[in-house]
This record gives sequence, C-alpha cells and structure tokens, in this order.
Amino acid sequence: MEELFADIVVPVSRGPFTFSIDGSDPPSPGTGVEVRLGRGRIYMGIVWRVHDERPAFPTKPVGRVMTQGAILTPRQMELWEWVARYYMCTLGDVMRFAMPAALKPSGRSEDEFARDEYRPATIRYVAFGDAVPDCAGLNAALDGLKRSRAQAAVVHRFFARFEGEEAFAGEMPVAELGVSAQVLARLAEKGIFKIYEKETVGGAVVPFDPAAVSLAELSDAQRRALDGVNEQFAERGCVLLHGVTGSGKTEIYMHMIADELAGGRSVLYMMPEIAMTSQLVERIRAVFGERVVVYHSKLGDRMRAEVYRRLLASEGGELIVGVRSSIFLPLPRLGLVIVDEEHDQSYKQAEPAPRYNARDCAVWMSSRWEAHCLLASATPSIESYVNARGGKYGFVRLDERYGEGRLPAVVISDSLRALKRGERKFHFDKALSDRMCRTLAEGRQVMLFQNRRGFAPWIECSQCGWVARCPRCSVTLTYHKKGDRLVCHMCGYAGRLPLVCPECGTPAPAMKGFGTEKVEEDVSAMFPEARVSRLDRDTASSLGRYERIVSEFARGETDVLVGTQMITKGFDFPRLGLVGILNADNLLNYPDFRASERAFQTMTQVVGRAGRSDGGGQAVIQTMQPDHPVIRQVQTADYTGMVDTQLAERSVFGYPPYGKLITVTLRHRDPVFVEQAASWLAAGMRRMFGDRVYGPHTPVVEKIGDENYFEILLKIENGRSFAAAKETLIALLETFSAHKEYRKVFVYCDVDPQ
Ligand code: ADP
Ligand code: ZN
Ligand code: ZN
Repeated sequence: MEELFADIVVPVSRGPFTFSIDGSDPPSPGTGVEVRLGRGRIYMGIVWRVHDERPAFPTKPVGRVMTQGAILTPRQMELWEWVARYYMCTLGDVMRFAMPAALKPSGRSEDEFARDEYRPATIRYVAFGDAVPDCAGLNAALDGLKRSRAQAAVVHRFFARFEGEEAFAGEMPVAELGVSAQVLARLAEKGIFKIYEKETVGGAVVPFDPAAVSLAELSDAQRRALDGVNEQFAERGCVLLHGVTGSGKTEIYMHMIADELAGGRSVLYMMPEIAMTSQLVERIRAVFGERVVVYHSKLGDRMRAEVYRRLLASEGGELIVGVRSSIFLPLPRLGLVIVDEEHDQSYKQAEPAPRYNARDCAVWMSSRWEAHCLLASATPSIESYVNARGGKYGFVRLDERYGEGRLPAVVISDSLRALKRGERKFHFDKALSDRMCRTLAEGRQVMLFQNRRGFAPWIECSQCGWVARCPRCSVTLTYHKKGDRLVCHMCGYAGRLPLVCPECGTPAPAMKGFGTEKVEEDVSAMFPEARVSRLDRDTASSLGRYERIVSEFARGETDVLVGTQMITKGFDFPRLGLVGILNADNLLNYPDFRASERAFQTMTQVVGRAGRSDGGGQAVIQTMQPDHPVIRQVQTADYTGMVDTQLAERSVFGYPPYGKLITVTLRHRDPVFVEQAASWLAAGMRRMFGDRVYGPHTPVVEKIGDENYFEILLKIENGRSFAAAKETLIALLETFSAHKEYRKVFVYCDVDPQ
C-alpha cells in the first residue's frame, strides 16, 4: 500500500509537523485531526498538505479525524499562508489566533482533550417512524391507538401540520409539537415516531429580499459618491472613500450591502473594536435584521464557534459585521469588504502574532478573490491616500455633511496665554468654559476629550523631584481617586499613595497633570447643575456599562460626557453642540513619525462629533502650541495640507509611504543581557542591510512587567524587494535562535508597525 504523509498545522509557534496517514482514505486538506506532539499535549491539528515525501525522521500516525470535511476553506488556507509569510510568523501562530478557541481542543490526556472538544448545540426533532411510511401505515397506527386518546391526538396534530402526504417526509422540533415526554416515548416505542437530535447551527440563510428592507433615500451628493464608487469598481478592486464626518457614509454602505446581498454574495463590514458595541451595529440591524452576524472580542467562545460554523456551512448572502479578527472567518461568496475608519490603528494587531493589519489583509483578499474593497474614512491614512492618488486605488470624495449639518467652527485656545492672564480655571481656558456655559444654557450637550484616564497621571515631590514609578515597568503611576490608589496602566500594578516623599520625607507629594477622572470632577465643580458622565476604560468596564453611558448621553439624560479615545469613534449624538479637546499637546508630542498624522485624525474625529444634525456645532482646542501646523490644519479641515506637510517630512527620512519598516523586538528579564543580544543582532543586520538598520534602542516604554525591551528598526526603501529583505532577515534570526546564549532571548518581528 502506498505510504502517505500529512503536514499538519498545530496551534503552537512551531511546525507544520509531518505525520503518517492511512493511504487508503487520506483526509483532505483543511480537515481537523487529533495529533499528539512528541510526548506532550494532544491538539486538534489541521491537515495542510498530503504527500508521499518520507521525512528523515520516524513519523507517528495521526489520531482520529475530527471534522466531517474541512474546517478551513481553501481560501482561508490561502489567507493564512499569506499572513504567515507577509507578517513573518508561523502557520501555527495564525491558527492559535484565527481559529475560535472552542473549535481547537487540546489536552494532556485523551480525557482532557475530549472534555475540551466542541459539541454543537442540538435540538430534538420528531418525524414519523418506520411503522408509518404512508397513509396505510398511519391508519393502521391510529387503529392501534383507539384506547390511547392522548397518543392519537398527538399523531393527528403532527399530521395536520403538513400538507397531506408531505407529513411522511416531514419533521419538526419536538418542542413545537407540544407533547409530554411520556406520550412521546410510547409513540417512539411503537415505531410511530422517531426522535433524533439535529445541530442548531449551519442552517441556510433565508434569501435576501431587497423589497423587505428600507434604505434611506440618498442625497444628491451621496448618490454621486455611490455612483462614483461603483464606476471605479469597474476598473479597480479597491476604492478609497474620503467623506467628511457626518456625510452619511454609513447610509452609502447600506445601499452597497443591499446590492451584494441581492446578488447572493456576502459582505464583510469591518469597524474598529470600540465602534462595534455601539449605535452603529443597531443601525445596521435596523435595516438588515437578524441576518447580521456580529463578531468581536466580547462574544463568548461558544458564540464565536457557532458563528464560525454557521458561516462555514453557508453558501453566501451573509452580512458579517466585525472587528479585525473577522477577516479569518469563512466568508462564503465574498463580494465586498468595507473597512470603515480605515485609518484606525486598531486594525493592526500589535500582540500576539500574527501582527497583521486587517485593512491590508482586506485589500489583499479582495484583489485575490475578485471581490470589491471599500476603504472609507473622514481622515484616511496617508498610505491609503497616496495609493488612491497614485491610481492604485479608486478615489471618491464626499465633502458635504448630510442635511443641515455643517462642519463645526473650531476655536484654538492658547493655554499658556490664558494662564498668564488668569483666564484659566481648573484645566479649562476661558474660551472653553464660556462656551460650555452658553451651550448648556441652550439645553445642548458638551463632549470633552482628554486622552489620559485616572485623576493625576503622575505624582511628584515638590522638593526633590521624586516621581512615583511602577516597580515593574518604566512608566509613572497614575493616581485614581476612585479606590484611592496609584495604578500602572501598563501592567495593572496598584499601590498606595505615599503620605510623604520616600526619598526626602517631604509631606504630600503633588498631583501632576490631569486625567478624565479629574476633568469630570472639575466640570461638576464648575457647573453644579450639569449632569456629567465619563466614558473610559475604568467606567466602561463591561459592555453593559459602556452601552448605558452612551445611550444615556444619546437620549439627553446627561449633559456633559468626558472621555478618552473611546468617545472619538462612530458616534452620532444629535444634541451635541460643543466639543472640547483639553490638552492637544499630549497628542502632538508623541515620539513617533506618525504622531502628527494621528493627532490630526483624532482631533478631526472628535471635533466631527459636534453639530452633526443642525450645523450649530463648535469645538475648542486647548494647546500650548497654537501655531503648530497640525492645530491649524485641524482648524481649517485641511486634510491635504496635513498630508503634504507629512509627506515632505517622511520623504527625507524614508518613512512609509516612501519605504517599508520592520521592527525587530527583543525581550528578556535581564536588561544588560538583552542589550548585548540586541547589539549582536543589529551588527548582523548591518552586515546584510547596511545603513538601513537603526538601533538598537529602547522603545518608549522600555520595561513592562519586569521584562526589558530593545528594538531594532529596518527600513527598506521603495523599489527594493521587501520579500527578499524578509527572507534575509529570517535566515539571520535563525542563526540568532541557534546562538548558544542569545537564544534565551525572545525575539519577534513586526512588519509594517503602526
Ligand atoms: P458618517 O459615517 O459619514 O460620519 P453617518 O452615516 O453617521 O455619517 O450620518 C450622519 C447622520 O446623518 C446620521 O444620523 C444619519 O442617520 C444621517 N443621514 C445621513 N444620510 C442620510 C440620508 N440619506 N437619509 C437620512 N438620514 C441620513
Ligand atoms: Zn522628595
Ligand atoms: Zn507596571
């Protein structure tokens, strides 16, 4: 008999592993099988490739075949391979992340493995049994039931549910028949009924009926934008829609989605994590109803598995609304991918591997499978904008807000000047507090943005300059008034606020800076009548609390909403009249080449929440750098001006889009050792890549949870093969991992770091 082998992907960082398989009935690629790694754990692995190339080492046979048919489609396998290659990780890394946890059991023993195995939910069905194949059988059965009226009634009831003869092939859930367990058991004993279990998931979706959904009628400008997008799709797979905040991009998507569904194709609609839980999903559900499949990190393991299996069994016509992980779902007959807020950083996974960018995967996927890809944003990423301008993507602009909405008037307040003139109270310049006063008096709402949570971001001794730091990370501790604790935002460490300086004994170290908790308190002090709420990671600890804060504000039950980045995305509050950005300098001074672009995007998005329905919106930006170009560009909504400034800077240094980056990160508990290892690796990289290598240097936060970090940056200019550079780097990393000492250092690559 022919000897066959299978390369099997297992959810660990190594592999694939080769096992021997039964040649008479080999499992097809994509099938899940049980395998044991060495003498270690048992996993569900995925058959990747079946072949007859006997490896040099002895192979073990695979265990039982676990899935009926493939658990991965050929397209998913293709995507996994691309992700592993492009983002420099293993297929096992991809599997670990991409496959819902409940679908990949593992265990130390057979028992443990079996306990971990997913069992789809089932319901019990009833149908006529062997004794009742036709009318004659039915009559005979009923004759036999003359003395059991209850049983006869049930048989009649079942029969009446169908059109005559169809009853003999019909079935229905036991629950719908309304019958006691006892009666049912009797009927089953006699062979009149048979009872069986059926999985609840995997059912076909009802075909989409365009007449049954009501889409908003588009304005002329929206109609032109939609036509524009469709025209461009005739020539290009990917189109960038640059539409200002409040222009009604969502309504345009709805029309596009309906078209795809009507053609029986599926749509993947991606959005940043935080926007998911909000109003937006409700808006989509209001139009497309139960068909909408939602996929995000707050779903339980079981739900994720069910969504996955349902899509695996489906033939198309699905609408999946999800976050970055949803690109790994089975996407039957994919017609369109929408990447909403495509500039958003949360599309890029930083940790763990695969460190992929879901937006870029979407672009790759749709070109590969001839689907369309719509990238949309009010503030597109510079990379996407350059691709659109260069003709790689189609490009459509939508410059006006829907209806009466106008972009808000933006006032810049010079905080230093306000301070000198005595026009700053708490952390509010007069320009902002005056407007807050007026807005609240008019019965409208205010939103305040501060990108720090907690009360005071650092605690400092006024005498010796001592600052409270996390003992495990290289960051300052933030004081949280609620709970009266000093908290590390990197590792979660919590300690007490010292009464005296531990260095010099001076009493009461000073609270410096201000976070959202302090802002909330200040607003209440300044406007005692106002109802204030706060949205940040501390207050929105659960989905329920998050939704309550948002919906209370949307209904006008609160007047002022204070928040972090969380308030910037996807919201539509009709009564919001004023937006305040309390400290723009926090955003501008970040040491990263994308800081200005990010600051522009964040500020434009926050500002864009105001005056969306009535045009009376205003925004105040407090800053110590009123002449900073980015501040000016936000004020005048000068997106292209921002892009030009940034491109000029980036071209000098060869940053994206003029080149591509890979960060190599090293991690170890010993700071000296990790630095030595980093120097060794950087020297090796310099031999290969010359002055394209920068570092090693410590990242902004160099120590997290007692682990010390070093980074090496590799810049590959456009026109050079990025793929070839990666291969060279991988070869070098293999020597590093084989080094007698340095192999103890954990090292990984981040391709296209954000
Ligand atoms: P964007 O996503 O571009 O910021 P939205 O899609 O949230 O904008 O639209 C802003 C507001 O205008 C929403 O309240 C939306 O319901 C409303 N709107 C936009 N277009 C229409 C339309 N064609 N008909 C009715 N309402 C619309
Ligand atoms: Zn001191
Ligand atoms: Zn810490």
